[in-house]
Amino acid sequence: MTSRPYTLLVVDDSQSTLPRLARALGPEDFALRLTPHGPDVPRLARGTALVVLCPGEDAAGLLTLLDRLIPPEGGPGTPVLVLAPPEPRTLWLEALRRGAEVVLDPWDPEELVARVHRCLSTQARMEALALQVGELQRLSSTDGLTGVHNHRHFQERLREEFRRAQRYDDALSLILLDLDHFKNVNDQFGHTAGDGVLREVAAALQRGVRETDLVARYGGEEFAVLLPRTHLTGALTVAERVRRELCALRLGTEGTLRVTASLGVSSFPHRSVLSPEQLLLTADEALYRAKHEGRDRICLHAQLPPFPPP
Ligand code: GH3
Ligand code: MG
Ligand code: MG
Repeated sequence: MTSRPYTLLVVDDSQSTLPRLARALGPEDFALRLTPHGPDVPRLARGTALVVLCPGEDAAGLLTLLDRLIPPEGGPGTPVLVLAPPEPRTLWLEALRRGAEVVLDPWDPEELVARVHRCLSTQARMEALALQVGELQRLSSTDGLTGVHNHRHFQERLREEFRRAQRYDDALSLILLDLDHFKNVNDQFGHTAGDGVLREVAAALQRGVRETDLVARYGGEEFAVLLPRTHLTGALTVAERVRRELCALRLGTEGTLRVTASLGVSSFPHRSVLSPEQLLLTADEALYRAKHEGRDRICLHAQLPPFPPP
């Protein structure tokens, strides 16, 4: 939200309206900046509180300018008030339809001030609403306990990233991670300490991956890491780093609590990974094997080619 004095961009090819506007609005609340019609108007409008548009010779040009200032798809923009002569009627009606406020010229100064304030307060409400929507979007995709992404967001991104990898013939890997014998942690140290461990594990995971990778809490003590543009070998390197980092954590108030994790890794492309569900299923199968083979280890869905290559 811009603050007082509000900067108003007055778009006018003549100098005659500016002094009248300045008298009506007063210098304490409003700073007026004059510019003629031209291609620079949208750029100059950015960062100002309101554009006051006085129609020039070119009526069609005014509507084109309005479309650039008030994008039809909505979104943040600078509000526009058109000071229009009563004729042609079609011009100011069209300006109203495109989302501008209209005041007919000759105007009553008090009405003008009231309408300017209404434009500003509507804009302030829209900006506050946009902030709230942003915060709600963030909350709806975040796990409340650990602060990493939640299951729902993970599922959405898994599908998006899978589509992208298929379309661009690119790699995509998934690591599923489940903490070993986590029930014992709760039993020995209590649920609150268990919650703290989950938070620290999530933070360690976030530290251990790239910004373009996605860390999510898949369920209770299970986490998922989605690695776009990453083949199985790369994912294995990340999984190993993560496994070691978790082993090295000293947790709890005394620093005596330690955890290990079992990890399953799967990658696209692979002949049995033809959908996001199959990527998930194969990573889960690999995780199950890691548990079965003794925990604190990584299992891959597919065998890596022998190294060095034959
Ligand atoms: P395994 O090695 O086979 O995975 O053993 P486990 O004990 O980790 O597996 P199990 O699925 O039997 O138990 C999972 C435990 O995770 C049980 C549950 O109390 C704990 N857990 C799940 N979500 C939370 C949570 O949000 N907070 C806490 N503190 N514990 C949780
Ligand atoms: Mg589990
Ligand atoms: Mg577990």
